[in-house]
Amino acid sequence: MTTHLIAGNWKMNGLGADLAEASALAAALKAEPARARVALCAPATLVERMARTVVGTAVIAGGEDCHAEVSGAFTGDISAEMLAEAGAAMVIVGHSERRTYHGETDAIVAAKALAARRAGLEPIICVGETLAEREAGRALEVVNAQIAGSVPAALAGSPVTVAYEPVWAIGTGLTPTTPQIEEVHQAIRAALVKALGQAGKGVAILYGGSVKPANAAEILHADEVGGALVGGASLKAADFLQIVRAA
Ligand code: 13P
Repeated sequence: MTTHLIAGNWKMNGLGADLAEASALAAALKAEPARARVALCAPATLVERMARTVVGTAVIAGGEDCHAEVSGAFTGDISAEMLAEAGAAMVIVGHSERRTYHGETDAIVAAKALAARRAGLEPIICVGETLAEREAGRALEVVNAQIAGSVPAALAGSPVTVAYEPVWAIGTGLTPTTPQIEEVHQAIRAALVKALGQAGKGVAILYGGSVKPANAAEILHADEVGGALVGGASLKAADFLQIVRAA
C-alpha cells in the first residue's frame, strides 16, 4: 500500500498572515515520524510564499488550478509552469467549484492534467457526483464518465492523484457512509485501470468533502482510500494536523 496523501485546499481563503498556519503545521510535523505525504494547495497569490514557508519541511506546496497552455492571451489565468516556478509541486485540477462556476468540462480538466505533467507537477484530478445525480442512482455512472474523460492515458507512469469529492459533501458537514465511499473508490480504481492500464493500480484515490478531525480516521482507513482532500479543516494547523495524524 502506498503512503496516504493528505492535501489541504485553501480555496479562496488566506492572506499572507495565514501562512503562520502553514509554518505551524510544518514545525509540528518535523517533531513526529512521517505518517503521510502532506500538501497545502493555496491561492495563486500565496503559492510562492507558501513554497518558501515550507521549504525543507515535509509539507508540499501546491496550486488550486492551472491553465492548459504554457503562456498566452488568457487574462487572469496562470500556467502550470508558473506554478512550478513559484515552487509548487502539485496542482488541483477539475475541482467541482471549477467545473460548476467556470464551466470546466472533462476535456478541459484532462488538458490541465497534462499541462501539470508537462510542468513537472503532480495533478490531483477531482471527480464527484451532485446530490441530484446520487439520488437518481447515477453516482457510479457519473464518476466513471468523469474518470474516462478527465484522466488521459498519457498520464500512465507519471505522478498523478485522483480525488473523489461528492459535490453534496463539500462544505456541508455531510459525508457519504463508509460503504458508499468504498463503493465509489472501488469503481474509480476499476476506471483508472481502464484509463491507465496497470499504472492505474498505483494511483492514490483521495476522499474529499467535510473531512474533519472527528471523521478522518474512519474515512482514511476505508478500502481504496489513499488519503484526503481537505477544505475548511485545512485552514487551521491544529485541525489539519489531527487529520494527518489519523492517516
Ligand atoms: P470541505 O472539506 O470544506 O468540505 O471542502 C472539501 C473540498 O472541496 C476540498 O477540495
